[in-house]
Amino acid sequence: MRANVHLRDGLRIELDSGETVVADGRRPAGDINVLSHAHGDHLYRQAPAALVCSELTAALARRRRDEATAGRPARTTHPSVDLLDAGHVAGSQAARIEDEAADVTYLYTGDISTRDRFYLSGFEPPDADVLIVETTYGEPGYVFPPQDELEAEIVDWLDDTLDRPVLLFGYSLGRAQKLQLLVERSERSRLYVSDAIACINAVVETALDVDFGAERSGPDTELAPGDALVLPTQTSKLAFVENIVESTGAVKAGFSGWAVEESFKYRGDYGATFPLSDHCDFNELTAVVEAVDPEIVYTHHGSAEEFATHCTGNLGYEARTLKRNQTALGDF
Ligand SMILES: [Zn+2]
Repeated sequence: MRANVHLRDGLRIELDSGETVVADGRRPAGDINVLSHAHGDHLYRQAPAALVCSELTAALARRRRDEATAGRPARTTHPSVDLLDAGHVAGSQAARIEDEAADVTYLYTGDISTRDRFYLSGFEPPDADVLIVETTYGEPGYVFPPQDELEAEIVDWLDDTLDRPVLLFGYSLGRAQKLQLLVERSERSRLYVSDAIACINAVVETALDVDFGAERSGPDTELAPGDALVLPTQTSKLAFVENIVESTGAVKAGFSGWAVEESFKYRGDYGATFPLSDHCDFNELTAVVEAVDPEIVYTHHGSAEEFATHCTGNLGYEARTLKRNQTALGDF
């Protein structure tokens, strides 16, 4: 058997039939094109004619890309591609690809989390011959607390700081929605979000049985103690945020897996940080590899080399790091 995997514009798999599968490309040009989820680093810039993806990912993609310039792909299916809930963000799916002629099954994870949380079911790894896994947190230092403890800690902090407004920073698609649901559990009164987050909220609320109950913040919004405003991560150091902090005494809090490192707090200029993540931590990634039990593991993103070494040295699997524009063939 032979695995034929490349990282070029997206992840590219060549099937024995000569067909190519491209996952998460910017200008996907495969015979079969797959989109795992609608985060910017996975999403097309120029859409192919058709995409294999979930209905919700298609709806979010349309919201995040201008149809006039990026195009509007049709949603399609393919008999060789099975989509499985990835547990990462709303609509996210992993792809299990069957190369029947070669008798090889590939699993492309996209971004994954195995934790059940909020409206998401954790990723349940199937078996496969070739595992292509994201390794954002693929080093032993990246271990997150149990989900229920972490959520309780965040709600406690929201309640302990009621005498001030809070500014909560997370990705517009993913962390931002979870932060709103945590605010709902707390004693905080008013909940605001930015326009970008409100747009994503609307799509997720329509697709899933969930209501974030947030108001759009505008230029006239005046934050008071007890209020919470959820903002996109990349705005954490912008002038308008500093103005809010100065005029209202608001506390800034950052939410990311990177919060296990002290430097995350200083980089984002946060008053508080919590390792709330939409990815697997190191132990969860290890458990995914063992559950899939593949013949070969390909790692990419984040700690790709460290995790490949861990797979080979500690878990006894053949493993390679995928590097862009380098062909990675594996015989097994
Ligand atoms: Zn993602």
